[in-house]
Amino acid sequence: MTATHDVTIIGGGIVGLATAHALSQADPRCRIAVLDKERHWGAHQTGHNSGVIHSGLYYAPGSAKARFARAGGEAMYRFCAEHGIPVQRTGKVVVATAEDQLPRLAELARRGTANGVRVEELDSARLREREPNVRGLRALLVPDAGITDFPAVCRTLAELLAERGADLRPSTELVGVHRDGAELVLATDRGEVRTRRAVNCAGLHSDVVAELAGATPPARILPFRGEYYETTSFRRDLVNALVYPVPDPAFPFLGVHLTRMVDGSLHVGPNAVPALAREGYDWATWSGEHLRRLVRDPGLRVLAKEYWRTGAAEIARSVLKPLFVRAARQLVPDLRSRDLLRAEAGVRAQAITPDGTLVDDFLVVEDEHWVHVLNAPSPAATASLLIGEDIAARIGARDR
Ligand SMILES: Cc1cc2nc3c(=O)[nH]c(=O)nc-3n(C[C@H](O)[C@H](O)[C@H](O)COP(=O)(O)OP(=O)(O)OC[C@H]3O[C@@H](n4cnc5c(N)ncnc54)[C@H](O)[C@@H]3O)c2cc1C
Repeated sequence: MTATHDVTIIGGGIVGLATAHALSQADPRCRIAVLDKERHWGAHQTGHNSGVIHSGLYYAPGSAKARFARAGGEAMYRFCAEHGIPVQRTGKVVVATAEDQLPRLAELARRGTANGVRVEELDSARLREREPNVRGLRALLVPDAGITDFPAVCRTLAELLAERGADLRPSTELVGVHRDGAELVLATDRGEVRTRRAVNCAGLHSDVVAELAGATPPARILPFRGEYYETTSFRRDLVNALVYPVPDPAFPFLGVHLTRMVDGSLHVGPNAVPALAREGYDWATWSGEHLRRLVRDPGLRVLAKEYWRTGAAEIARSVLKPLFVRAARQLVPDLRSRDLLRAEAGVRAQAITPDGTLVDDFLVVEDEHWVHVLNAPSPAATASLLIGEDIAARIGARDR
């Protein structure tokens, strides 16, 4: 007979580990397990992102993203400082390069202010003082954006959990779920795990895990790959910090930006192209099952009809480097194709509803035994410590 856990978390990305951390802080006696199918923590979205601590600029006022990004960012700065994880409050600029982007830049400033984010408007001369190689008509400076190493955050969370006696099980994949009285029996490729409650933080597989648990997820995961280039080492000084374009409000991605990472490297990206498998990190990785599902997905058909132009342009920039470089040169005209080397891509778990809406906000649903995190795209790494606290509070409320 295996011991029963109070809460088992499926997925050891930053959201799953932060949830376990919050649960163990709220109740040190809580018997917690974390399962991840990979050998290392944070092997998927968390280990393949831009490493940016977002400030809450972009998100609709009142949304969970807006609430959690700003306070979550501050919590992340504190956590990193406390545990010796590299972190820098670099600030970032969002740059309008054409007249028609100015109203959207002004709207971003309004949103940021409504969300309590410090925002400063820069004219082109002040932008040049801050970022001499960046060309733009106007910009917003967001001083509280910054950078960190999210995989290092995961390693630290796992260490803290191990110290508090949590049952950490990497290389353990959930493959089935059944009930035994008041308990859940989680079938894994390494035997059974018994638990009173479970939290689904499976990222790119969160809809599949929800179905294994017997739920009907209101949205499915549509994986979008984000591809990056890295500048050669002698072009790392092209920008001083983070440089973003004005995002397209119809699309939930921020557009190709320049990101200084904590190791000093300079990344350009990510774009957003459909991935041909949930973990489709390049065009050569595809899954017949995934593609069959996509073809049958009514939501995807609606989306494709609406966005085929944007999608085709993104795919062209993905396969033709000169087009990618041309887009990035709108921000940094000095950038040359020879300055850029392909870097590792990431795949975003973006939820889509059956009517073709890309779910903008975080999406969490619960039932008697489960909390399912069904949409935790950017800025969920930034906000992870607060998302974890929110989930721990939901579980605590059920136990009271
Ligand atoms: C290209 C890119 C750039 C981004 N940039 C930023 C940024 O700069 N700042 C920011 O805040 N956010 C950013 N994000 C978003 C951020 O990375 C994610 O929101 C966050 O990492 C989500 O964490 P997670 O724990 O939910 O998912 P993940 O990190 O994907 O973790 C899910 C885990 O579940 C495991 N799993 C899945 N199925 C099973 C199963 N059946 N059994 C056991 N384990 C399972 C997986 O192995 C995985 O480790 C970016 C994302 C991408 C892809």
